[in-house]
Amino acid sequence: MTKIHNFSAGPAILPQSAINAGVEALQNFAGTGLSILEVSHRGKEFVAVMDEARAIVKRLWNLGDDYDVMYLQGGASMQFLMTAVNLLNKKAAYIDTGTWASNAIKEAKRYGEVSVIASSKDKNYNYIPKDFVIPSDADYLHYTSNNTIFGSQFHFTPECEIPMVCDMSSDIFSRNIDAKKYDLIYAGAQKNLGPAGTTLVVIKKDILGRVEREIPTMLNYQVHLDKESMFNTPPVFAVYVTLQTLKWIEELGIDQIEKNNIAKANCLYNEIDRNEKFSGTVNKEDRSLMNATFLLNDESQNERFLKACAEAKISGIKGHRSVGGFRASMYNALSLESVEALVDVMKNF
Ligand SMILES: *Cc1c(COP(=O)(O)O)cnc(C)c1O
Repeated sequence: MTKIHNFSAGPAILPQSAINAGVEALQNFAGTGLSILEVSHRGKEFVAVMDEARAIVKRLWNLGDDYDVMYLQGGASMQFLMTAVNLLNKKAAYIDTGTWASNAIKEAKRYGEVSVIASSKDKNYNYIPKDFVIPSDADYLHYTSNNTIFGSQFHFTPECEIPMVCDMSSDIFSRNIDAKKYDLIYAGAQKNLGPAGTTLVVIKKDILGRVEREIPTMLNYQVHLDKESMFNTPPVFAVYVTLQTLKWIEELGIDQIEKNNIAKANCLYNEIDRNEKFSGTVNKEDRSLMNATFLLNDESQNERFLKACAEAKISGIKGHRSVGGFRASMYNALSLESVEALVDVMKNF
C-alpha cells in the first residue's frame, strides 16, 4: 500500500505501532485466542489494559494520588456538559476562542451563570485573547487550549487562582505542560490519542462534591472514579488503542514529540509566509502547532490545489467550512516527511 500523507483533523493519524497492536488484538487479544471485541471487560486481561491506560497518563504528567484518570464516552461534547453539571454551582468563567469553546459555553449556561471573560469572535476567532481578568468568585475557568477548526492555540497557561478546566482534545501530549496547574483536563481521543469512542478525563479529585444539585449517575464523575472507569461497559477497543498510542508517546518522550511538532509547524508556516500564493488565517503568535489554517489568495484555484495534493497522496487538507481554504492537521503521529510533501506541492503550484 502506498503511503498516504494523512492531514485529517479528526479522527486522525495514529502511530503505526498502535494500529498494528489494534489489528492483533482484534484477532488474538493478550494471548486469549479471542478478539478483544468478544471478551468481558471484567476479565483480568482487559482490567490490566484499563489500569495501565490510567496509570500511564499519570506517569506522563508526573501526577500524584490527588489526581485520577477516567476513560468516558460521549466525546469531548459530553464533557461540555459534565464539567458544568459537576462543577458549576453559581458562576463559571469561560474563554471563547472558537466553535468548541462556544459549544462548551452553551452547555454550561444550562447550569448556572456563565461569564465569558474574553472572546476572539470579533475577528472570526483568528487570535487568542490575552488581557482577560479571571473573576475570583467563579467556580472555575474553562478554556480550549487548541482551536482545531480555526487553527489558533494558547502558547501560555493562564495564571489562575480558581480551579482550571481545559479542553485539550486537539493538542493533548503534543507539548510539555505543567498538568498540576489544572484541576480538570479532557480530550476526545480521536484527535491525538486513539480511535473515536472514548474521552480521556484527568481530574484533581478535591474539586468534586462542591455542587448542590443532584447529578444523574452517568454524568457523575465521582461514580466513574469510584468504579475506575468501569461503572458500565467501557469502549474496550478505543481504550486499548489509546493505550498503545500512550505507550508510543512514553517511549518517544514528550520532549521529543514537542520538538518534532515544532519542526513540522515551522516547515509549513515558513512556506505559507514565503509563498505569495498563500496566506495564513491566524495571528502569527497564536498559530496552532497542530492545525495550520491557510488560504489561497486566488480562491478560484482551490480545486486545482486540492487536486495537486491528491496527486501527491496528500489527504484531509480541505478547510473547515467556517474558515474556508485549507487546514493541515499535524498531530503527533504525522511525520515531517508528510509536511515536506505538502510544502513541495505548495512550492510547485
Ligand atoms: C473535536 C473537538 C471537540 C468535539 O469532540 P467530540 O469528541 O466529537 O465531541 C471538542 N473540542 C475540541 C477542541 C475538538 O477538537
